[in-house]
Amino acid sequence: MLTLAGIEEESIVDGPGLRFVVFTQGCPHHCKGCQNPQTHPFEGGKVHSIDDLLKCYDENPLLDGMTFSGGEPFAQAESLAALAQGVHKRGGNVVTYTGYTYETLHKGVLDGNSAWQNLLSETDFLIDGPYIEKLRDLDLLFRGSSNQRILDKKSRALLDEQNAAEKEKKTVNP
Ligand code: SF4
Repeated sequence: MLTLAGIEEESIVDGPGLRFVVFTQGCPHHCKGCQNPQTHPFEGGKVHSIDDLLKCYDENPLLDGMTFSGGEPFAQAESLAALAQGVHKRGGNVVTYTGYTYETLHKGVLDGNSAWQNLLSETDFLIDGPYIEKLRDLDLLFRGSSNQRILDKKSRALLDEQNAAEKEKKTVNP
């Protein structure tokens, strides 16, 4: 089950192509200037089953994939990973927005957060980082502020390698 603040059945601004977007309820980040403050409280929202959401997704054969927006999707990571699996089985791709940086999520995974790991594995494009009002840029593709990145699986693997190499360098030369 998922608690959602809303659904957008057709969007062209939340990732590549035509997308079904779910907005999760609940966000711990409280970014100044957030466009969706109604999604911040963890109480409220409407509960949806994964099956019902996939049935709704199936009704539109023109969709390219599904986008998880917020709220903070990683606060409901296990259920979203299951939903993403359904989208992948249908040939669609998955975009996940998060107010966490990828590095924070990766650290969480290394510390044993299997729900975050499952959602990251099912995410084709991660759009990471909080919204920072003073870095707002209306020309950016799919993002609100210039600190946010669009990271596919290859870029995430590359970041893991770079961060591991830097950590090792610090251990050798503290
Ligand atoms: S992470 Fe997203 S939903 Fe949460 S406060 Fe920041 S901009 Fe708003």
